[in-house]
Amino acid sequence: MIIAANLKTNFTRKETNAYIAELDNFVKSNSVSQEVLVFPAPSSLDDNATDIVVGTQNAYPTKEGAFTGELGLVHLEEFSIKTILIGHSERRHIFGETQELLVKKFNFYKDLGFKIVYCVGEPLAKREAGKEEMMEYISAQYEGIDTEYENLIIAYEPVWAIGTGLTPTLEDIEDVHTALKEKSKAPLLYGGSVKVTNAKEVLSLNNVDGILVGSAALYAEHFCSMIQFAQEIENN
Ligand code: PEP
Repeated sequence: MIIAANLKTNFTRKETNAYIAELDNFVKSNSVSQEVLVFPAPSSLDDNATDIVVGTQNAYPTKEGAFTGELGLVHLEEFSIKTILIGHSERRHIFGETQELLVKKFNFYKDLGFKIVYCVGEPLAKREAGKEEMMEYISAQYEGIDTEYENLIIAYEPVWAIGTGLTPTLEDIEDVHTALKEKSKAPLLYGGSVKVTNAKEVLSLNNVDGILVGSAALYAEHFCSMIQFAQEIENN
């Protein structure tokens, strides 16, 4: 399974390094065979020679250039970063990233062989509009994306569940995941208010290949417990 932490705009570089070291120690001392990904804040990227895969929360589709405030490929190469999060709802909705820009990012980093965690998910109004309209909305987020890309991971994250403490029912998560598996066979993570208290149930669902965790991942010991749950489920 894939257990991923999105640290968003939290933790300095020093704090991030301590966090990654704690996860690495846990993974090594418990012989964890799950894939653990961490997405630190951009200025907290560093050389982390550990078993934890570190990715960037964002980067512009460019090697370098005049794109104020953005990271380019050279900034990722400096730390051997080969993993990127694309399409997170905060990028789509707070920063107004369009599907067109996301496709450009996707293609640019795909051509470089990056592991891409591509996020999709509906706002509350679309969920309340019924399954057909909700699935149409999510389907539009697949437009222009190579769903057969070998290094693709998809994360289903309902916008209304992110950072709110609200989650769909387990049945609803399984239902949407089953429908999304028809669109792509890529590993499919669930994200949106996953906590140490619900992670095991979510990870046990059919067609859930892992989780993407925001707020709750900021507590290393909680995140390690989630990694342990995934390991236990896979061992059984
Ligand atoms: C996220 O930001 O990807 C996320 C899932 O956040 P949270 O776990 O806080 O809902």
